[in-house]
Amino acid sequence: MNDFRVPMSSPDLGPDETAAVLDVVTTGMLSIGPRVAEFEQAVAALCSRRHGIAVNSGTSGLHVAVIASGLADGDLAITTPFSFVASANCLLYERAVPLFVDVEAATGNIDASLVAEAARDLMGGTEAARDRWLPPSLRGASQSVLKAVLPVHAFGQPADMDHISATASQFKLALIEDSCEAIGAAYRGRPAGSFGDMSVFAFYPNKQMTTGEGGMIVADRDDLNALGRSLRNQGRDVFNEWLDHSRLGYNYRLDEMSAALGLAQLRRLDELLSKRARVASWYTERLAGIEGVRTPEIAASTTRMSWFVYVVRIEPPASRREVIDQLSARGIPSRPYFAPIHLQPFYRDRFGYARGQFPVAERLGEDSLALPFSSVMTEDQVDDVCESLVAVLQTSEV
Ligand SMILES: *Cc1c(COP(=O)(O)O)cnc(C)c1O
Repeated sequence: MNDFRVPMSSPDLGPDETAAVLDVVTTGMLSIGPRVAEFEQAVAALCSRRHGIAVNSGTSGLHVAVIASGLADGDLAITTPFSFVASANCLLYERAVPLFVDVEAATGNIDASLVAEAARDLMGGTEAARDRWLPPSLRGASQSVLKAVLPVHAFGQPADMDHISATASQFKLALIEDSCEAIGAAYRGRPAGSFGDMSVFAFYPNKQMTTGEGGMIVADRDDLNALGRSLRNQGRDVFNEWLDHSRLGYNYRLDEMSAALGLAQLRRLDELLSKRARVASWYTERLAGIEGVRTPEIAASTTRMSWFVYVVRIEPPASRREVIDQLSARGIPSRPYFAPIHLQPFYRDRFGYARGQFPVAERLGEDSLALPFSSVMTEDQVDDVCESLVAVLQTSEV
């Protein structure tokens, strides 16, 4: 391990968070208690939803959303290859198939016009038209049915939800919104998490707000709420006795300490997001116009950015590998972000994906570099990272 001068990310925890967690410990009620219910209501209210279902990670929230949306063996869901692997893995848990379409170069978000084209071809196209979108290993003989769209708000910037929602309703597809990176963001004035039949947030310590491990599903429909609660809690229905189980379920419950921590963080969400926005603006001021780096682009439809990570693109002739190594030698961590999902070894093996299939996502996968980022970062630390990056770019061009 290198000794880095600046951490890649860090949570922003104050005395209120400590007090809230200690308070739960002194009550002795550690699970299925009032904090979880309060936290659910608070997150639902934040994005104008009727229901919140707290879960123990964003990934478990996505898994529950996939089951509740009725996805099962061989069913197809259109999603993005440029994301954290959990947004596609949640489909594989139910033996459903992620059908990737390429992303927009500017934002890294799923290309909504490709979503529409793929849905049209899959819902009524010829076999050749369907095959164009299917993973290579399913071409030719697939009876698979398109059931869902699963967009992701990459890096805290909302995907083109008007266009994606229109496609979902036109073809009666379930809409699962992966908002794990976007709490507090807004798309044309509407909050991230307000678009999906079920929408999911994540609260891992590197996210904008944290519960340790944890996540939240939000929804409006009562049936999805009831099903989600049951799946989270061992398949029990609300009317079941403790050892009665109506269906196959999981233990995906969030505990009371985590919910108390989440409530304390949520009260500070505006502060946390504006601190992150300030750190992002320090970076952009210093890096704009520097040859070899491209700073993040914010779409006009993003009326509020919820900065999750600060990701630049390293442009030729500079090499990203060399930039990472040289930054590391100077005590600065940085990471490729994301590695496209279709190129992960088990996706290649299972679905026959290869390089060349989603050129925009692949290009972003080769160029994109996350710099150290958090709400507790100081302007001096941003200076330090930027000076090092500029120095590295100058030497790597020689
Ligand atoms: C963080 C994240 C998740 C999963 O969250 P966990 O709480 O770590 O399980 C899912 N999707 C995306 C896009 C994420 O960034």
